[in-house]
Amino acid sequence: MSEVKLENIVSLAKRRGFIYQGSEVYGGLSGTWDYGPLGVTLKRNIMNLWWKMFVDTRDDMYGVDAAILMNQKVWQASGHVDTFTDPLVECGNCKGRFRADKLDDPNKCPTCGKTGTFGEAKQFNMMFKTHVGPVQDDAAVSYLRPETAQGIFTNFKNVVDSFYPDLPFGIAQQGKAFRNEISPRDFVFRAREFEQMEIEYFIAPENWEEEFNKWVVACKEWFKALGLPEDKVHELEVPAEDRAHYSKRTIDFEFDYPIGREELMGLAYRTDFDLGNIQRVSGKSMEYTVKGTNTRFVPHVIEPSFGVERALMAVLCSAYREDEQGGERRVYLALPEHLAPVKYCVSPLLKNKPELVAKAREVYESLKAKHGNVMWDDNGNIGKRYRRQDEIGTPHCVVIDFQTLEDGTVTVRDRDTTEQKRVSIGSM
Ligand code: ATP
Repeated sequence: MSEVKLENIVSLAKRRGFIYQGSEVYGGLSGTWDYGPLGVTLKRNIMNLWWKMFVDTRDDMYGVDAAILMNQKVWQASGHVDTFTDPLVECGNCKGRFRADKLDDPNKCPTCGKTGTFGEAKQFNMMFKTHVGPVQDDAAVSYLRPETAQGIFTNFKNVVDSFYPDLPFGIAQQGKAFRNEISPRDFVFRAREFEQMEIEYFIAPENWEEEFNKWVVACKEWFKALGLPEDKVHELEVPAEDRAHYSKRTIDFEFDYPIGREELMGLAYRTDFDLGNIQRVSGKSMEYTVKGTNTRFVPHVIEPSFGVERALMAVLCSAYREDEQGGERRVYLALPEHLAPVKYCVSPLLKNKPELVAKAREVYESLKAKHGNVMWDDNGNIGKRYRRQDEIGTPHCVVIDFQTLEDGTVTVRDRDTTEQKRVSIGSM
């Protein structure tokens, strides 16, 4: 497999309708990305797979969908107002602003190249601040949520009251998160608006090690389902001095992206820090009573925190392939079939033969009813159609020819091997 470059992924994503720069027509808005027709489907396939794996097929999981805007007390209690910051430095020469801990050379400005021009680093809060309602005073301050997790913690008591699940159990949420990153970069890897899939798994404190280990296994199953090569995913045991003070163990799962080895997702044991804060600030009990006993305690929590875009980027980078077919360079996405945005492409061999077109439409309609995302393509010659479908990762291209009219069979071409087989229409 040839080395994948980020620029190849970015250009394919734009050319083929996966991901566009946000507000591009007006010169863009840094750190924002828009998903095109294929991108939105790929993203949903990833998110739906996650929901199926971690919520629908388990009996210890509860889904929620909390509001993005939350009472400012949420972010005071969680510590985000005071400490959700990154260190910011400004170049005295060109006025460029950078995240101090991400500079390759802490003394040299990456924009103008001058050395020794940075002043003291300032702590910059990454939450987007806004006001709720027509009065713009301090009491009306709110924030676009910088993580989905707090919408889970604030609903802990609601879910317990409605369902009274046995411990351990988890609450899962997917949705947008916003961070005013100082330097958004590397395509969707570090954006200002992105999507998270988070679980808070509530446990009795004495079981934390056992439950943590189960989540390590579950995360690995997820990477496998995404089709990520095992040797490209790495477990980084975060040392105590780099962990949040309340976390007793954190693993960052990293992936070998074209930009280097970077965080794909995080898994943290957060003790009772979050529910404890809510209890203290709201004055409402977050205790859980073990059924049939008088044992009450604030549950501890294991938090697997998945980023949708970082998963999607890892999927695209893992699937990107270049080879040679018939003396020509070919680009294709070897996406796992369950993630591919288009499952089948249907074409008539010739566009100007009404009987072929009619039969092809019939096959198209029946495959669409069965598989959902099926594409019709009768543009250009067959070779060009195949190339277009290869680039978007369509596993099967179906062609209706004259033999189809006689015996009800079609040719199906495999994306990865480019081999063609004749199969009956009903077998697809
Ligand atoms: P980093 O160190 O890369 O800034 P983080 O440790 O701050 O990330 P978390 O707060 O643990 O990230 O967020 C959980 C997950 O959310 C990350 O593992 C990542 O997948 C995703 N994520 C966080 N920030 C961004 C971002 N700016 N753009 C895209 N995804 C993000």
